[in-house]
Amino acid sequence: MRLVMIGSGYVGLVSGACFADFGHDVVCVDKVEAKIDALRNGVMPIYEPGLAEIVQNNVSSGRLKFSLDLADAVQDADVVFIAVGTPSRRGDGHADLAYVYAAAEEVARAATGYTVVVTKSTVPVGTGDEVERIVKRVNPDADIEVVSNPEFLREGAAISDFKRPDRIVIGTDSERAADVMRAVYRPLYLNEAPILVCERRTSELIKYAGNAFLAMKITFINEIADLCEKVGADVQKVAKGIGLDKRIGDKFLHAGPGYGGSCFPKDTLALVKTAQDNDISLGLIEATVNFNDKRKRAMARKVVAACNGSVRDKKIAVLGLTFKPNTDDMREAPSLSIIQALQDAGAIVHAHDPEGMEAARSFLGNVTYGASAYDIAEGADALVIVTEWDVFRALDFPRLKELMKSPVLVDLRNVYRDSEVTPHGFSYVGVGR
Ligand code: NAD
Repeated sequence: MRLVMIGSGYVGLVSGACFADFGHDVVCVDKVEAKIDALRNGVMPIYEPGLAEIVQNNVSSGRLKFSLDLADAVQDADVVFIAVGTPSRRGDGHADLAYVYAAAEEVARAATGYTVVVTKSTVPVGTGDEVERIVKRVNPDADIEVVSNPEFLREGAAISDFKRPDRIVIGTDSERAADVMRAVYRPLYLNEAPILVCERRTSELIKYAGNAFLAMKITFINEIADLCEKVGADVQKVAKGIGLDKRIGDKFLHAGPGYGGSCFPKDTLALVKTAQDNDISLGLIEATVNFNDKRKRAMARKVVAACNGSVRDKKIAVLGLTFKPNTDDMREAPSLSIIQALQDAGAIVHAHDPEGMEAARSFLGNVTYGASAYDIAEGADALVIVTEWDVFRALDFPRLKELMKSPVLVDLRNVYRDSEVTPHGFSYVGVGR
């Protein structure tokens, strides 16, 4: 089949490369020239494990191409996926659909023959209806059907998530369009990935409800972590104890600095706004958003407390900046609020991240970057683990103690146990223990 991805970011590029791997002919389109140039030269614009290899293989086999010319790519396509960004709209927190609608207009103008247009971007309930209206207005004769097919991949594990999804959700009332989508996903279907075909609005809401539930689960364990600290319990053991109950499950029960990233913060907020517009109050999600917002600065106060109540003019070494390991994505990373709060309290922040430092420069001011944990630990008053990259899981504490001014470790991801760190002369603070 001939597929087009509009938007070659974390979702569009990974999905496009994986679809090409299934044997489809794929063109990934973007409007950022530098991105397309880089891809044509074999340079990945993002860090995602395994992506370069799969892109290279499919480019060599001629199944994967990159283009700036949307109209040319769309002309002969069977299926066009819209995978552009849907960030929070400045000011009110609704999902900003400007990129989706602009792409829909361009696609409607260019499409010829029967074409399925798929919203793969995360879009609020009813967006598919609006895309359909745009198509009819721009090109009344177009033979286009609009389908919702939300994406559930996780950055850092995007390729395996895409190739082995827990489920594929397809939102359409059209049997013809559903059959086209089944053909697109046939290789996964043969692997027995469940396909759920439902109404378009239901499909759109499944994505938000799923993300909101996961955000709520993280927030739940973070609240329990706060209680653990007050009553002398260990949140990791509480999480294990409840996670063994199959009705609860053990995933997303890691206490930490709060959720971040390009999805949970904006999607929870957008869901709350959709509910408000429909005279519904989603109290659980609103509480989740509020708690998570406050949590990041609360983590900075934990650092201050670990430094005897003041970080003024002290050097704080931050390990990990991205919102999670194995990505270079800095969008809404907890590190941003934590570092800002530390700087507000007078700290001098040095930081290291294996992949995120380049992206971090445009988000953070007055941070000195170092080449390794040991590089930034020199003369530091405290070391703070913010993102649990593997390379921070086996730190050389005797070496760090030699380098640091005062041996304090604040472990916001509970990578270590007290008993592994304090024998080296460190004072240790984790989360919820
Ligand atoms: P991104 O910012 O990495 O990529 C979007 C790309 O679209 C950019 O490269 C941009 O230049 C391009 N673009 C915008 N308008 C265009 C147009 N008219 N023509 C061509 N290209 C255009 O975003 P992302 O992280 O890939 O997210 C895309 C969507 O997928 C969002 O709705 C997001 O919520 C959703 N999503 C993201 C993830 C994730 O982990 N990142 C997971 C599931 C769903």
